[in-house]
Amino acid sequence: MYCTKCGKLASPEDQFCNGCGNAIVSPEAEKKESIVLAILALVFSVLCPIVGLHLGLVGLEVYKSKKNRDLSALGVIISVSIFIVLCAITMLLFYFI
Ligand SMILES: [Zn+2]
Repeated sequence: MYCTKCGKLASPEDQFCNGCGNAIVSPEAEKKESIVLAILALVFSVLCPIVGLHLGLVGLEVYKSKKNRDLSALGVIISVSIFIVLCAITMLLFYFI
């Protein structure tokens, strides 16, 4: 296994690279990481943007693998977008009533 930052050989037990100090994430650990939180973040970002935003931010905090981080980030982006659209619609409704 090699460091993803500097390419130096690292043993699977190492948590940090001996060369550059970069955190070592083994492919095993990355695979074992549950995708559930990222999926929930995506689902709730549509159903309930506040919850989706929260789950997405938690996902960004806890996930190490890029795929899960990307999904969480997507959840955050969708949540914020829907929230803005909902605010705009509410404001328009108040404007016309
Ligand atoms: Zn390194």
